[in-house]
Amino acid sequence: MKKIVLVLLATVFLSHPAAQAADKIRVVATMNTLGEFTQKIMGDEAEIHVVAKLGRDIHFIQPTPKDVLKVKKAEVLVHSGLDLEAWRQPLLNAAGNTDFLGSSEKAVDASQGIELLEVPAILSRSEGDLHIFGNPHYWTDPANAEQMVRNIASGLSRIYPESAARYQANAETLIHQIHTAAADWDRRLAPYKGTAIVTYHKSWPYFAKRFGFDIIGYLEPKPGIPPTAKHLQEIERLIKEKNARMLIKETYNEKRPAEKVTRESGIPLVTLLQFSGDEKTNGYIGMMDENVKRIEEALGGGLRS
Ligand SMILES: [Zn+2]
Repeated sequence: MKKIVLVLLATVFLSHPAAQAADKIRVVATMNTLGEFTQKIMGDEAEIHVVAKLGRDIHFIQPTPKDVLKVKKAEVLVHSGLDLEAWRQPLLNAAGNTDFLGSSEKAVDASQGIELLEVPAILSRSEGDLHIFGNPHYWTDPANAEQMVRNIASGLSRIYPESAARYQANAETLIHQIHTAAADWDRRLAPYKGTAIVTYHKSWPYFAKRFGFDIIGYLEPKPGIPPTAKHLQEIERLIKEKNARMLIKETYNEKRPAEKVTRESGIPLVTLLQFSGDEKTNGYIGMMDENVKRIEEALGGGLRS
């Protein structure tokens, strides 16, 4: 009788959602795209908390007490490396999770092996530059997204070698999906190769290199430094001189300077998505697909006329 009660109790306990959550591997990802890739590689065994909320500028996230608690209890940390998340180290310090401090075996750096653009000769934040190790917005090139998936899968395989084969198989599936979608984006953006464009922040150099856009200027004089009136005039002059055909901003960039420039120059203002996780766009592939669609809409009419 006692045995039956124990078995019943165990069954009730194991089927309880809280018990199931407790069995999962607790992962903290610094941003949505990393969380999404990690979830697709690990599947149901992971419970993933993402720090940077959607629609916010990743450079200026302020982690909450909940984020600190999640990092404190996390078993794995997946981050983007470099200095994109300047708040990352303070968050780790606040959480005091020794697994992630110092040279951490349990932290996965998604930037490994990615060929960085704009690596400066001298590391300096003296002028407010947010990109001192090179440009950290590397996932806007789908080839780099594939490398991120590889990095996450090999990092997780190092931490949980018993699951390595499954992680690698899931990663291969995801890489194949990104690769197939990217071939379609290449085809759709091919007609606009060589088009001169302007962007608000230096978020799109990898995207531009991949798809053949020529970025002739930025609304921010330096990454993270708001545009000045004088700088905007210079950009308007450049747009005319180089025949730039669109201005790209992100959802969280200030509208007014971008609208002023596009109004004066008569070019379209295109808002692109940099972080997956929007329900409507359904993950990294959906997000990039939406970006390609927005560019086609902005430039398509002009080319046909
Ligand atoms: Zn940046």
